[in-house]
Amino acid sequence: MKAEIIAVGTELLMGYIVNTNASDIAQELLDIGIGTYYQSVVGDNSDRINEALEIASSRSDLIFLSGGLGPTEDDITKQVLAEFLGEELYYDKKQLERVETYFKNQNREMTKNNYRQALTIKGGETILNDMGLAAGLIYTQEKNNKTIYYIVLPGPPFEMKHMLNEHVKPYIRSVVAKQGVISSKYINLYGVGESFVADKLSDLIETQTNPTIAIYAKPKRVTIRLTYNSVTYEESEDVLDELAEQIRQRFTKHFIGYGSEQLFEKFIVDELKKHNKTLSAAESLTGGLVLEKLTNTPGAGDVIVGGFVTYQTEQKVKMLGIPEEIIKEHTVVSAKVAQEMAERTLNLTGSDLAISLTGVAGPRSLEGHPPGKVFVALAARNHPVQVEELNISNKPRHVVREVAEFEVLNLV
Ligand code: ATP
Ligand code: MG
Repeated sequence: MKAEIIAVGTELLMGYIVNTNASDIAQELLDIGIGTYYQSVVGDNSDRINEALEIASSRSDLIFLSGGLGPTEDDITKQVLAEFLGEELYYDKKQLERVETYFKNQNREMTKNNYRQALTIKGGETILNDMGLAAGLIYTQEKNNKTIYYIVLPGPPFEMKHMLNEHVKPYIRSVVAKQGVISSKYINLYGVGESFVADKLSDLIETQTNPTIAIYAKPKRVTIRLTYNSVTYEESEDVLDELAEQIRQRFTKHFIGYGSEQLFEKFIVDELKKHNKTLSAAESLTGGLVLEKLTNTPGAGDVIVGGFVTYQTEQKVKMLGIPEEIIKEHTVVSAKVAQEMAERTLNLTGSDLAISLTGVAGPRSLEGHPPGKVFVALAARNHPVQVEELNISNKPRHVVREVAEFEVLNLV
């Protein structure tokens, strides 16, 4: 099955908005073993949307359209698709009720245009929108001896993703299931390189044809994707779980969790919970990034205590009470200051663990230290403070900050 994604929206073409919908859809499809062969972006223009549909239907079986389902005059995706398919549009009763209820609850007058969001195509299957007002739809067409599936999703990413995961993925799975099922499992590692992982798995990679093993690398992180082709999902779950466990055991020091979107921060929060430990932080060059990422994880409130953003040197003295002489003697970017920051945060917050970061994000150097020089530290009760020096040279500011964040979490 070949998938194709058409993102509709003039603002995408102009570059004001990044086409994250296409990458989200493609990744979710890959998860169920379907490859995306083409992606395109077209403006809110009926001729060009039509042209994109002509081309897509000639070469793909699963055609996604995202965007242009809203109430305004330039939202024309469903109208163009209906005309392309030679079908009529009508109002879906259930979605219409949702739109009407929404306006009633908001005490707002509904305009004629708002009804458009409940439109759907005759012969298709409406996907009710649980997160917004515009209905999505699935339409199946028999053309040139093949079945083509058109899947229409709203533009706002939050609505799109919900519809995709709750309604579209199960639907596609049921279609694909008739042709055998393909499932994937992801293993995430931190602090290893691609070639190291490939080397450790070479015996498996060489002999394995089903499941297949693929390795993807990001800065300091590696994701291993296992894909299995079988008859039932149950069978494939068992096979994938077994192989994943076998692989995990080869990387126990680097394993940070399963899942296509496994976040290091979530792993840390989960581990803290498991061990019944609390954590606080003192940040300098990351300006609160570490705490922001950690607290973005649901349930962080149980284990993340709080901390300090001591961005300027003076605040390390004022907020944390580090003696000025220590900073003068060692400079602010030093192992000693990182250690002081972590220790004092531990005592000030009363948490079980405290982390700290001090360094130069760049692009300018600071007190003679080059960009990318960073010290991260971890303090824990009744343990000596652990400090690590990083030299993240020749990297832009945001990468220095991100790597510093990961390295300090790695200490945890
Ligand atoms: P609305 O009811 O909000 O008008 P819509 O289905 O008509 O929804 P659009 O008008 O195309 O969708 O887009 C609405 C907003 O959704 C855009 O301004 C943009 O922020 C976001 N969006 C649309 N398409 C994409 C895309 N492909 N990737 C990421 N974001 C998108
Ligand atoms: Mg719109």
